[in-house]
Amino acid sequence: MGHTLSEPLVERMRGFGTTIFAEMTALAQQTGAVNLGQGFPDTDGPNAMLEQAVEAIRGGLNQYPPGPGLPPLRQAVAAHRKARYGLAYDPDSEILVTVGATEAVTATILALCESGDEVVVLEPYYDSYAAAIALAGAVRRPVPLRPSEPGGRFTFDPADLRAAVTDRTRLLLINSPHNPTGTTLTVEELQSIADVAIDRDLIVVTDEVYEHLTYDAATHVPIATLPGMRERTVSVSSAGKTFSVTGWKIGWICAPAAMTRAVMTVKQFSTFTHNGAMQLAVAHGLLREMEWVEALRSSLQLRRDRLADGLASVGLTVHIPEATYFILGDVRPLGLDDGEAFARALPHEAGVVGIPVGVFCDDTDVGKPFVRFAFCKRDDVLDEAVSRLVSYARRRG
Ligand code: PMP
Ligand code: GLN
Repeated sequence: MGHTLSEPLVERMRGFGTTIFAEMTALAQQTGAVNLGQGFPDTDGPNAMLEQAVEAIRGGLNQYPPGPGLPPLRQAVAAHRKARYGLAYDPDSEILVTVGATEAVTATILALCESGDEVVVLEPYYDSYAAAIALAGAVRRPVPLRPSEPGGRFTFDPADLRAAVTDRTRLLLINSPHNPTGTTLTVEELQSIADVAIDRDLIVVTDEVYEHLTYDAATHVPIATLPGMRERTVSVSSAGKTFSVTGWKIGWICAPAAMTRAVMTVKQFSTFTHNGAMQLAVAHGLLREMEWVEALRSSLQLRRDRLADGLASVGLTVHIPEATYFILGDVRPLGLDDGEAFARALPHEAGVVGIPVGVFCDDTDVGKPFVRFAFCKRDDVLDEAVSRLVSYARRRG
């Protein structure tokens, strides 16, 4: 296919269309549905952190910050990672501030993959990974996450992981805690990934944006803490989920200096830098607002349970997540087999929006029966969604 005026988009990006999150949020607006699709909270982050951003703007922090990020934020990321996980990174050479985790992952893939290289991803995968891999001219190799039983925890078979690695594999791109399944990889699961990475001399890119939002007994373990892994891992995180400021788009990577330099080389020409005031406010957040984050975590756990009960009451099989903003519901007990058709009809028929998990999968069987519902919403919003679903379930009989 050539380039024409009517189809100017490069071939490798055709088929990506509009993101499912934008599409379903637009559908929620058109239909007046309760939006449990796109994962964003409907309450604000810590007040003192918001005030810091306002003060920084009023105080004149309005010109380009340094490309790698404001030093106070890089220092705060380093202090946080050291205190929480015992991982030491040099703020000057091993930490890079990015425009959200999205830019961190995209710039990392563009920096590290030659055209034709392969990237192993856990499937379902976050949508921007597929686009970033395509932009790089690389190829994705999915490893499926499946539930152990109906309603069970999603995990992968280490044999599938080993089978996905070829001589062209360059990166293992993992995401834990995982969107959308909520799986928080255990040390054993991480070790099986580390074994493959070390054995095949691969770089691991790990997206940890939900690192603080884990529930019950689940705890987040960064793969970089495993023996032999720090030197081959690019760790990605962001302020959006931790501090309920998804629109601020302040993210970062922590990685050995050579990898950080490589990612910086790409990042400096994509955005160069962004938004000093919010970088400074996030530095304050990491140093001073972790109690606020702990309160957010417990409140999200209660809201998870509230929505889970509601979804179960309308007949979905609910997968209780160990982390994140999201619950997966399996539509099969409703006598359906296609979560995508269900999710696309739901705004019209029930007045509720969820995200079909099939769109995050190459293997249609892996995600097909599941719909993702976000519980990072106020109780009254969750209750309204559940009451609409209950009426819909009654009408269906
Ligand atoms: N990775 C995952 C797994 C996500 O769920 C999201 C969005 N919530 C992102 C990356 C994007 O993060 P950011 O908004 O910081 O770019
Ligand atoms: N990460 C959010 C989610 O999974 C959405 C971000 C976006 O809209 N791109 O819902």
